[in-house]
Amino acid sequence: MKAKIVITILVGLLVLLAVAPAIPAGGKAAEKAQGAADKDAKGPPEIETVTFVNIPYWSSPPWYPDECDENADTYRLVMGGIRWADDNPQVACVVYTLGAPTGAFAAVTPAFVTWDGATTAGIYGSISENAVNPPPGIAADETNTISWGTIDGPGGTIAMTSFSFWPHTKELVEFDLIFDKDEDWTTTGFDIQGVATHELGHTLVLDDLRSPRDGALTMHAYTWPGDTWKQTLGSGDIRGIRAIYGE
Ligand SMILES: [Zn+2]
Repeated sequence: MKAKIVITILVGLLVLLAVAPAIPAGGKAAEKAQGAADKDAKGPPEIETVTFVNIPYWSSPPWYPDECDENADTYRLVMGGIRWADDNPQVACVVYTLGAPTGAFAAVTPAFVTWDGATTAGIYGSISENAVNPPPGIAADETNTISWGTIDGPGGTIAMTSFSFWPHTKELVEFDLIFDKDEDWTTTGFDIQGVATHELGHTLVLDDLRSPRDGALTMHAYTWPGDTWKQTLGSGDIRGIRAIYGE
């Protein structure tokens, strides 16, 4: 009798496993699971998503400014070969400012200009503001967005960025950047422009740097209240963007 129950449960599990991949994907985790299932079945490739979490120092870090080399030429790519499709992609972005600090749109727009100025590729196109609709967060909708939303309340993470790409063509599809609306984004807190420039670097597929020597670079992992170093690119940041998009 007991054996029969065990067999019934096993059959039930097998049926569940067989049905599971057909359940429509909802959200990023489910999407990833779906992608893995397709890979096993040698089906069509699925979009992959990479997410970065920005956890800062709450006062200036121990190496600042003594160990930082302003001429450091370091950069790292998240994954080689991934980029926006052509040489003049003109990537558009919508900045959602409902619930954002005053002046948020004006603070993020220079970040696009800064990266664009380091290459002739013409990466960015229309950067527009939407001050009416609620922040969309990280949503797989092929619309590039920046917004102020809830992440984890005050402390912890101050921003989250994701980019999505086709693994077979290495072509970028979308990025989304969320600023944590519960942090201090005033002049005594975190610098919107600097954080935006760092996070946009991730969407161009540049990775975080962690050596104190690279502390003056935009792509250094850590920011802190009052840190404006990340507004302008250093040698390594410029080398990195040019390695992907040319001079
Ligand atoms: Zn980062």
